[in-house]
Amino acid sequence: MSEDLRQREQAAIGLEQLATLVRAQAWRNEAGAPLPPVQAQILRMLAGTPQGTRARQLADRLSVSPASLSDSLKAMEAKGWIVRTVDADDRRAWRVRLSRTGRGLATRLQHPARGMAGLLKGLENEDVGALLRVTQLLVAEAQRQGLATGLRTCLGCRYFQPFAGKAPGPPHFCGFIGAPFGDAALRVDCAEQSPADDEQLAANQERFRLHHPP
Ligand code: SF4
Repeated sequence: MSEDLRQREQAAIGLEQLATLVRAQAWRNEAGAPLPPVQAQILRMLAGTPQGTRARQLADRLSVSPASLSDSLKAMEAKGWIVRTVDADDRRAWRVRLSRTGRGLATRLQHPARGMAGLLKGLENEDVGALLRVTQLLVAEAQRQGLATGLRTCLGCRYFQPFAGKAPGPPHFCGFIGAPFGDAALRVDCAEQSPADDEQLAANQERFRLHHPP
């Protein structure tokens, strides 16, 4: 096996072991019972959208089928964590938001000591920035392979301008807020994200892969 392949294998083993570990141990509800990962993700996503969101958008962002999402939502509704209402703009669609109980649970789940965040808290900012950069690339690859849709990353955003910042300032630029920013401020789930078209996506990915401004 070549050194390149060995490195990738080790990285893949590490990531998969961490994901399994966090999934198995970190997401527990008040009673200490395991919380299904999809339900935990729904709680976190809804915590960022107080006005609620369409069920279809949730399914896209989680990369699960509408039927699978519907099962999760029914279970969460039965526990009193979410409220579903008919969308005022489309009577055939559901809108989902957190109940007071669900919001409290989401707040506790987002505590920095929980889940993957508990493992990251000891890292230096520069290392977190490096991780965010790699995460952008991994999400883009997952989307390219059809494993994920709807994730609202900077790299998939039409406002993202990699390496458009002015040296010696932060390297990237966000057209939405009109300000430069560095790797440590890259967003994996940004409410303001608007998907880039294919041409911009390809150009941004090529540019973002560079380690230094072109
Ligand atoms: S709008 Fe959000 S996702 Fe888009 S570039 Fe700015 S920070 Fe990144």
